[in-house]
Amino acid sequence: MSARREFEVAVVGLGGLGSSALYRAAKRVGAGALGLERFELGHERGASQDHSRLIRLSYHTPQYVRFAQDAYAAWAEVEEEAGERIILRTGGIDLYPASAPNWHEDYTRSLDEVGIGYEWMDAGEAMRRWPQWRLEDDVRVMFQEATGIVAAARANSAHRRLAERAGATLVDSARVTEVREAGGVYELVTERGTFRAERLILTADAWTNELLEQLWRPINLTVTQEQVHYYASRDVEAFRPDRFPVWIWMGVPSFYGFPVFGEEGAKIGEDVGGDEVTGDTRSFDPDTGYAARLDAFMQEHLPDGFGPYLKRKTCLYTMTPDRDFVIDLVPGHERAVVGQGAAHAMKFASVYGRSLVELAFDGTARSDISAWGIDREVLTMEDAPKSFYV
Ligand SMILES: Cc1cc2nc3c(=O)[nH]c(=O)nc-3n(C[C@H](O)[C@H](O)[C@H](O)COP(=O)(O)OP(=O)(O)OC[C@H]3O[C@@H](n4cnc5c(N)ncnc54)[C@H](O)[C@@H]3O)c2cc1C
Repeated sequence: MSARREFEVAVVGLGGLGSSALYRAAKRVGAGALGLERFELGHERGASQDHSRLIRLSYHTPQYVRFAQDAYAAWAEVEEEAGERIILRTGGIDLYPASAPNWHEDYTRSLDEVGIGYEWMDAGEAMRRWPQWRLEDDVRVMFQEATGIVAAARANSAHRRLAERAGATLVDSARVTEVREAGGVYELVTERGTFRAERLILTADAWTNELLEQLWRPINLTVTQEQVHYYASRDVEAFRPDRFPVWIWMGVPSFYGFPVFGEEGAKIGEDVGGDEVTGDTRSFDPDTGYAARLDAFMQEHLPDGFGPYLKRKTCLYTMTPDRDFVIDLVPGHERAVVGQGAAHAMKFASVYGRSLVELAFDGTARSDISAWGIDREVLTMEDAPKSFYV
């Protein structure tokens, strides 16, 4: 570990968002960038460490669609610099059962406004193109070609590697226990000594409030323990990325899944299916009720993707009440920013990190982040109404 203790900028939390921010910070100030992580780099206790996360332009507001466009462009820069592939475009389908709310109206309106094409088809046509699916006649399907996979764990490693190459200091096992501003400098007390930085970027996700409340106040966040399954699929060849696109079941409950990527079988998850926990009280044990729902969906709709478990993995969702991001300066601070990804941010990590760094240094970001301010009433009001579906 470097003996250096004074930095121009410190990033606290090196998951998906923090690793990206550290990379962008190091590109800007080289050895002036510090990254602090409470566990090992690439640990599995947070939100960002699996083979795959969905990336898509298909979103419910034009601002997210545009931010996703910026994310694809920023990922291309990272891929170029890292010399490796992080994004795999498989195309993607959003499946709307008859019982689904009218979410498709928001999605198509947003895509139309930004000028992004998509294709509607009925269940019969979808099953002709992707015979892996078993669908009721009344399911409608929207295909968007840009959708695909972020190789999440690989992306995080690439960001951290590039940050280090640009001169950044990365410190693992360094939980920040105290953060305070003193004489225009942020002092960060960690398990490995005290560090100082002129600017601060907080990307601590499930642990955000432990830090934020020391600088300002806590915000309303709900943490849940989610779960994904990989199956030893009966027909693994039919689930290769060139034959089987990424998918989202836009019903309630909502499921999503991936072709074979990282493990030799199909993957499925449920959006907001888990019990409320905290970053410290969560377990790593799969939940049986959750497992039964994932298995039942596979058996009903993707029977050849089903099979014995290859791997089951738990993971944390940390959500604002409106499920929108927080990308903003900490109130009362001109050089401290906070990023909270509302449990759908991995796809945006490339541009998210860039935006946080721009905000910390310039007070403004190139991408439009205006909807994700920390002054939203829902973040601090008592008994905030919660709406977790996006
Ligand atoms: C099962 C699952 C599926 C998902 N699917 C998708 C998807 O398909 N597409 C998508 O875009 N997003 C998806 N998401 C959401 C996305 O993964 C998260 O929004 C994103 O990874 C959050 O990144 P983060 O860096 O904020 O959090 P984390 O990766 O949790 O990183 C936070 C880091 O801060 C560290 N930390 C905390 N406190 C301190 C401290 N005091 N001192 C030092 N370090 C600290 C933690 O140890 C951790 O490493 C999914 C999430 C899950 C769990």
